[in-house]
Amino acid sequence: MDLYEHQARGLFQEHGIPVPRAEVTDSPQEAREIARRLGGRVVVKAQVKTGGRGKAGGVRLAADPPAAELTARQILGMDIKGHTVGKVMLAQPVDIEAEFYVSYVLDRAAGRFLAIASAEGGMDIEEMAASRPEAVARLHIDPVEGVTSAKAGEIADAAGLPAQTVDVLVRLWQVLVREDAVLVEVNPLVRTRQGRILALDGKVTLDDNARFRQARWGDESVAHDDPLEAAAAAKGLNYVKLDGEVGIIGNGAGLVMSTLDVVAGCGARPANFLDIGGGASARIMADGLSVILSDPAVKSVFVNVFGGITACDAVADGIVQALDAVELTKPLVVRLDGNNAARGRAILDGRAHPLVQQATTMDGAARRAAQLANTS
Ligand code: GDP
Ligand code: MN
Repeated sequence: MDLYEHQARGLFQEHGIPVPRAEVTDSPQEAREIARRLGGRVVVKAQVKTGGRGKAGGVRLAADPPAAELTARQILGMDIKGHTVGKVMLAQPVDIEAEFYVSYVLDRAAGRFLAIASAEGGMDIEEMAASRPEAVARLHIDPVEGVTSAKAGEIADAAGLPAQTVDVLVRLWQVLVREDAVLVEVNPLVRTRQGRILALDGKVTLDDNARFRQARWGDESVAHDDPLEAAAAAKGLNYVKLDGEVGIIGNGAGLVMSTLDVVAGCGARPANFLDIGGGASARIMADGLSVILSDPAVKSVFVNVFGGITACDAVADGIVQALDAVELTKPLVVRLDGNNAARGRAILDGRAHPLVQQATTMDGAARRAAQLANTS
């Protein structure tokens, strides 16, 4: 689970990393009050779980409390890369002398954590790593040893960060370990004109597998920002919203993942990931269809099932019953293969729904679903 900036800021503060004074609100009037408490001038920052808010106009300076109210009113409700701004954080502005980049991220391939640091922070680190790789230091961290002062010194040296940042580097590691994070990132970590080191922005991704021992995120970690994901979660579906037009239903996570790839290979974009698992009951099929059909971006739906223990005729029965329960509003392409495929196909043929068509291969079905999405 990704945290909001203000939540990351809270964790930093708890672990002794200096952060600017700040408060969060969803109300422009309250933003004015907060600005007054913070001394008048504030930075108003959109709280969305995506980077690049600055460039998108989601980070703006307000000169006084009335301006803070106005700015908060403008930023609240804004769309930033598909995320609607529900809250703003108001922070005391900082006189920046230098901006640095620091992160620790789990490097699964190496079985280590990776420290990434740069004395040229503030901007997009991916861009920076591509255009000036020599300005970005990358050091592996032994998960058992962690980031000691000595290790933090090495990181700072390699990146050209001032020695003053060593304490923050050590504490940031403690955030990662104690909070069970797989990513902590500060961009920018700044040195102010007054010579202080401050974390001006924060990104933290918690390890969902450690949720059971991080009680405070109990409700939050199952909360979904996307309304479709929330509806799907309420129905117990394994659904992830994506940006495309082809709705996807499949049985088994591996099959669904390859279905996404094959659809993308056919020149269309998948609208979601939905694994209905082994059961594929009428109920799950109906729930899945109704969530997918309520996504306005969806132009066609592709049901890709390989019958194993659950035979295709049972899945076809499920689809037929789902078609009685949910009004199909978009074309549906079904590919049934594996155990009892012929019987399953016959059941669907028997239902003869005008919006349902079958394909015998995964490639053929993906091409058809992509075509339908691209032409409607
Ligand atoms: P992001 O665009 O989502 O990464 O949002 P950030 O919180 O990193 O803000 C973007 C940029 O705004 C930072 O890199 C800073 O240059 C600038 N910024 C943010 N807060 C302040 C501040 O208090 N004072 C000044 N001068 N600049 C700020
Ligand atoms: Mn940033």
